[in-house]
Amino acid sequence: MPFHKVTYNEKRRFATVHNYGCTFRCPICSYKLRSGADGVPGRSHPRPDRFLAADEIKSVLRTTRVDTLYFMGGEPTTAVELDDLLAFGKRELGVRTSLGHTNGSRLPIPNLDAANVGLKAWDEATHLACTGRPKAPIFSNVEAAFRSGTEIRLNVVFVPGLVDLDQIEEIARWAAGLSPAIPLHICGYIPIPGQNHLRPTAAQMEEAVACGRRHLREVNSSHLTAAEALDLTSRDDRFASTRLL
Ligand code: SF4
Repeated sequence: MPFHKVTYNEKRRFATVHNYGCTFRCPICSYKLRSGADGVPGRSHPRPDRFLAADEIKSVLRTTRVDTLYFMGGEPTTAVELDDLLAFGKRELGVRTSLGHTNGSRLPIPNLDAANVGLKAWDEATHLACTGRPKAPIFSNVEAAFRSGTEIRLNVVFVPGLVDLDQIEEIARWAAGLSPAIPLHICGYIPIPGQNHLRPTAAQMEEAVACGRRHLREVNSSHLTAAEALDLTSRDDRFASTRLL
């Protein structure tokens, strides 16, 4: 039962169900910004004291004014309750359902309207180095989800010297083969404790965005410092939320 928290953004009327844990073990996982070099990727905090039953989550959502129901935290598709809660969201609440982020390891999923997928690399060796998993199943899952009608948004972390401009461009080219309207967000790498990669410069970020825009119509970026990444609530009201459970 890896869901352990439910939060609510009243202004934007969305609730988020938070998962603990991930299927990948990425050395540059940004969750380590909180947990440190020895932290388990995908696990941003110490193991929660308590996990939530699906019925508890449903009860609180029935009494909350929600337009969109998000699932995130590590890799939310690892939660065995996910399919049941997606069906609940669509059939009982009648809300939009979305994976706030996913590594794409389990797509498509019934009753899911949208997914924000983090693609880690284009070439196989880099993908294995970044995730410990082969690339093909992930890209094939994303394609299957897109073709089944799931609204797909993509993101990729630009790590100069590792996930470099060529990888960004090939990912954008591949996505454009599905549809040039798929949005792509390029995150500048934030140095993770224990890793030697460098944060991109502003000029490198511009190059990365240009690589994406050669293929896709909607490409944007973020270039945060570690301090900014750890305090997103002050930068964006989408991250300002209260805890329901
Ligand atoms: S897939 Fe995402 S959450 Fe999971 S280990 Fe990799 S970066 Fe972290």
